[in-house]
Amino acid sequence: MSKHQFDTEISQLLNLMINSLYSNKEIFLRELISNASDAIDKLSYLSISDDKYKSIEFEPKIEIKVDKENKTLSVIDNGIGMNEDDLKNHLGTIAKSGTKAFIDNMSGDAKKDSALIGKFGVGFYASFMVADKIEVTSRKASEDNAYIWTSEAGDSYEIKETSKESFGTEIKLYIKEDMQEFLGDFRLENIVNKFSNHIAYPIYLDKIIPADKDGKEEINSVQVNKANAIWKTNKNELKDEDYIDFYKQSFHDSTSPLSWSHVRAEGKIEYTTLLYVPSVASPDLFRVDFTPGVKLYVKRVFITDDEKELLPLYLRFVKGIIDVEDLPLNVSREILQENVILTKIKDASVKKILTELSKLKNKDLDKYKHFYSQFGKVLKEGLHSDFVNRNKILDLLLLKSTNSDELITLNDYKERMKEDQKEIYYITGSDEAVLKNSPLLEKFISNDIEVLILDDDVDGIVFPMVEKFGDIEIKHVSQEKFQADKEDAKDDVEVTPEFGTFLASLKEFLKDEVKDVKVSSRLSNSAVCLVNDANDPDFQTQAMLKSMGQATMEFKPILEINKNHEIIKGLLQNPQKVSVVAPILIESARLAEGMEVKNSVDFVKNLNKVMVDSL
Ligand code: ADP
Repeated sequence: MSKHQFDTEISQLLNLMINSLYSNKEIFLRELISNASDAIDKLSYLSISDDKYKSIEFEPKIEIKVDKENKTLSVIDNGIGMNEDDLKNHLGTIAKSGTKAFIDNMSGDAKKDSALIGKFGVGFYASFMVADKIEVTSRKASEDNAYIWTSEAGDSYEIKETSKESFGTEIKLYIKEDMQEFLGDFRLENIVNKFSNHIAYPIYLDKIIPADKDGKEEINSVQVNKANAIWKTNKNELKDEDYIDFYKQSFHDSTSPLSWSHVRAEGKIEYTTLLYVPSVASPDLFRVDFTPGVKLYVKRVFITDDEKELLPLYLRFVKGIIDVEDLPLNVSREILQENVILTKIKDASVKKILTELSKLKNKDLDKYKHFYSQFGKVLKEGLHSDFVNRNKILDLLLLKSTNSDELITLNDYKERMKEDQKEIYYITGSDEAVLKNSPLLEKFISNDIEVLILDDDVDGIVFPMVEKFGDIEIKHVSQEKFQADKEDAKDDVEVTPEFGTFLASLKEFLKDEVKDVKVSSRLSNSAVCLVNDANDPDFQTQAMLKSMGQATMEFKPILEINKNHEIIKGLLQNPQKVSVVAPILIESARLAEGMEVKNSVDFVKNLNKVMVDSL
């Protein structure tokens, strides 16, 4: 026998869970059944794909047995089982997804916290809410030794060798004195119906057949779940509740999905997909090691739930099932990734999901806005990676704009475009208020031309790649010389010889800071602004590359000046002030456009000089 300590976080978790999930303790059974079903999934797969397991014959089933005398409840499966190491690794240390993350995410709201349990892979421990002692007896398929893991919560567990007739796992809970309700077959059957009806394997429960005339009770093992693969059922036999229940059970989410689509494709490639859009983003959505949401089955046999690219990454929030008829069961990971059939299913599924989202947007904008608040950022990644569907994705965006307090679509923008306006304009940055007040927008605003305010981190990366929406070009405000007010523009470009000399001297003075100094046609209130050269990355992207340690060279901006502004006029009269005022102008242009001051020491010194002068 050997005694082991739990990871400290597990003890902590046990305490937290016992207290916070108290009102929702019945979920312990869902967690045990789901683990049993996963274990059977694993063995069914190995028995077809791995020679070591090929000789194993088994009829998958999960049994729930009650021993009223000893007050125990057992969940028994004939799945893959666990050997000594597995027991230590899986039931003694923190699951990969992180107990810490679970604890950090606990809200104190029992309902929300219970939904987190499955997501963070701490399901097994939920049983300590109803049991004061747990025994796990397990024998791994294809191995002879069996082990028994015992714990009474606290901070330790024991492992002993034991014997077990056949492979699989039995989890025996010694039910707490005040939890005896969980020994009643009626209560247990209800819980199975509520949570585990669509588990693909039959679940048998020992039911007591009431005493007959002779006073004898009989115990009968009865199948209590439907055990059907709902996605194989005809659509017209399924109600919304069926879809929602299945989703909640299969994807450990206590909130109902926003929408779903169920496709049975027959013809050249036969497959079924049941894909859901959740209503709440899972906490790991933006982590590299996010849990994929789509499970792959081949002819109802579970193959994997660990393949991140069954759908493109920008649809990684989608959860569901892909069940294919024409794949070998022992399909390997490498084959999966380049399999033509899967690629076709993937392409068709992407089109279907985008179409469904578009329908949702047109039918129920509020619901769609909710979707977008959760997943809009992820969806935008598709602008970069999915060239084929780019226009469809653009069509799904909800964006901020200068002319509206509400989010707008690109179609809204298009409809509102001025008659002679040829392009769609946007500005990117990280702060909405700064962007809306950017000097770069002055002429757009005075000409009442709408500009999209793109303040998501990804915008600065993906939008420069989006050249067109339909046949209309999309341009960053600084990338195109402003054309709306042509008369002005012409007037601005023609300068007197005196002003030409001033420009040249300014350019010479600022040559380390900027590529060029030009007379601007876009400014009306501000004295200056900084713009990028047409082929350089925008400021936000440059800052991001720099923070990722990827900046290879510095891209100098172009300084545009407003020749009608008092400061510029003043400088023209007092060229000796250029050395103090010009550096301030550049730094304040940076600030106005949401960048940081570059040389704060000189900035403050110069400002002080100007202040002293003016006092
Ligand atoms: P999760 O199932 O979310 O990973 P659990 O705490 O419920 O987290 O289980 C931890 C691990 O223990 C599982 O991932 C699995 O490897 C193993 N396990 C639990 N129950 C069983 C079982 N009945 N048969 C085989 N392995 C199991």
